[in-house]
Amino acid sequence: MVAQPVQGPLFESPDVAGHPIERPCLIGEATICYAPAREILTRATGFMDAYDFTLNPYSGCSFGCTYCYAAFFSRDVAKRDSWGYWVNVKENAVDLIDRRKPGALDGKLIYMSSVTDPYQPVERELQLTRRLLEIMAKRHKPKLVIQTRSPTVARDCDLLRRIEDNGGRVQVNMTVTTDDEDIRRTFEPFCPSNSVRLQAIGKVQDAGVDTCITMTPLLLVSSPYAFADSLIATGVKKFIAQPFHFQRGKFLAGTRDKAFDLMAEKLGCDRDSFRAEYLEHYRMVFEVLCETLPELGEGKGGFAPPF
Ligand code: SF4
Repeated sequence: MVAQPVQGPLFESPDVAGHPIERPCLIGEATICYAPAREILTRATGFMDAYDFTLNPYSGCSFGCTYCYAAFFSRDVAKRDSWGYWVNVKENAVDLIDRRKPGALDGKLIYMSSVTDPYQPVERELQLTRRLLEIMAKRHKPKLVIQTRSPTVARDCDLLRRIEDNGGRVQVNMTVTTDDEDIRRTFEPFCPSNSVRLQAIGKVQDAGVDTCITMTPLLLVSSPYAFADSLIATGVKKFIAQPFHFQRGKFLAGTRDKAFDLMAEKLGCDRDSFRAEYLEHYRMVFEVLCETLPELGEGKGGFAPPF
């Protein structure tokens, strides 16, 4: 359903400044649509099976990472091929959380989000993730891990602190995959730059919220020691890395060749050998990170619930 300027659950409560929220139809190049969801909390399975629930306020993601596995969950080939250019807002998400009895989420491990970014650009206007946090802060004591590539998460430090003060737990994970902006632009074309992400997670850390930097996947790093120094400078103490999986990794239509050519060029090898070269590069960077960072996990073990 394409966005229409009609009243819905997202309109019924005013935003934090007391003004009704406009429903945008387009953010950048992404079309924003609105539809109700059957549920907002989904039983966690697979990679996230140590959690109780995953929480995805949106489906689709306008950050449009070319390697995003979430894109391939869509059965609709057109949606898969246009990943990054559409976002569906779960317009009844607030009602669905609000219906839960007070305390029903106490102690529940919730991972937000597994197949979208809860702080992608549309969140700045809609504040849907913020509204969900408001309800959790008032009525529940969840154990919440927030995963994002967006500086907008720093906006909600007040609520994240409130959840902690009320007896819940929160950790914010910021994904940073490279120190090379050519690589970032090729693999994560609509995402904020690395430096913006690092500044934002530093702010969250300074606000007294638990933080972690996730290098998942860790792409190419041009200066490993300087990269490690920039991570440490944020004040974050926990880190997770994971290699890019070429076997399982998929690429959005039309992006694979450009990404692989750039990797081969940066590694100084040809397309036939760059996968082995990449894995060697990953191990070298991982060793530098092991040597320099205070706490470094890897892969699924690194993503185990932190509380
Ligand atoms: S930010 Fe996450 S969900 Fe969004 S496109 Fe990138 S990998 Fe996918």
